[in-house]
Amino acid sequence: MEILKIENLRAYYITSLYGVERRVRAVDNVSLEVMENEILGIAGESGCGKSTLLKTMIGLIKPPLTILGGKITYKFDGKDIDIVSQKEEINNLRWKVFSYVPQGSMSVLNPTRKIIKTFEDLLKVHLKIEGKEEIKKLSEEHLKALGLPSEVLTSYPHQLSGGMRQRVTIALSTLLKPKVIIADEATTALDVVVQRGVIQLLKRIQSEFKNSIIIVTHDMGVHANIADRIVIMYAGKILEVGSAKDIFKNPLHPYTKYLIDSLPKIGDKTFKKSVPGAPPSLLNPPTGCRFHPRCGMAMEVCKENVPALIDVGSGHKVACFLYSKEAEIS
Ligand code: SF4
Ligand code: MG
Repeated sequence: MEILKIENLRAYYITSLYGVERRVRAVDNVSLEVMENEILGIAGESGCGKSTLLKTMIGLIKPPLTILGGKITYKFDGKDIDIVSQKEEINNLRWKVFSYVPQGSMSVLNPTRKIIKTFEDLLKVHLKIEGKEEIKKLSEEHLKALGLPSEVLTSYPHQLSGGMRQRVTIALSTLLKPKVIIADEATTALDVVVQRGVIQLLKRIQSEFKNSIIIVTHDMGVHANIADRIVIMYAGKILEVGSAKDIFKNPLHPYTKYLIDSLPKIGDKTFKKSVPGAPPSLLNPPTGCRFHPRCGMAMEVCKENVPALIDVGSGHKVACFLYSKEAEIS
């Protein structure tokens, strides 16, 4: 069963300068399902729209970001809530149904307050728990369940290492047992050993609470370590979706093939090619398949028509005319 469904979402940054409108097409007709009990990885180069897609999932939709169409539906307790048409529901969903782990942990933890205070706020506001002892007990139990030391509660954020702060932020975001955890570049800017700790923690959370985790990172190595399914984004669109096994062992889209080929492999000392050219501007993306100016396989049809995202078998989907002639209807 899916817990979150995104349908035909268009989220653009719309600004106007001297009466001239600019539209950055960050998320352009994206459809995606997030299943219960899965770790979904969203991959792509920076500026491909993946962080914008996350922002829309948590209802962080403020001008200039504008939703021009589509639905973002959370399914829980037998209800369907589309946060595009039912914006007022977002506050009821935050923390309990979904929670967000931002890139920098300091934006969540208040530098002037001990960690326990932030846990306390959350338990007071959302669960109406007032007793100090109960708050302490619940916070300690939660950290213990995640294999983190409860001593962190009496520390100030600056007294913890960057990696521990990030893990505490993740623990905090799971305190009310949300159904979906949404993490943006949660492992970026951490060294490899610390990164491994954060990945272990996310896996532990998933097996402990049986929730869904959406992890966005440009780092395919992280996806290889954690994701059950992977979504490949490029220039505001989804180009391929599949199980981690399919994406790594049998990538179909020419762009995904480049991403996988550019990964270092153990014992292989040969020079790795990166994707030729640069990602396009989302202000004026290429016509047709947005990858066509960089694609070695491009055909005439690719310049004019947008390939539809088609299931080529057991949930492996690809948007490329090499696999299906079906075009997107716009
Ligand atoms: Fe290349 Fe055409 Fe496929 Fe786009 S649709 S990836 S240009 S072959
Ligand atoms: Mg980003």
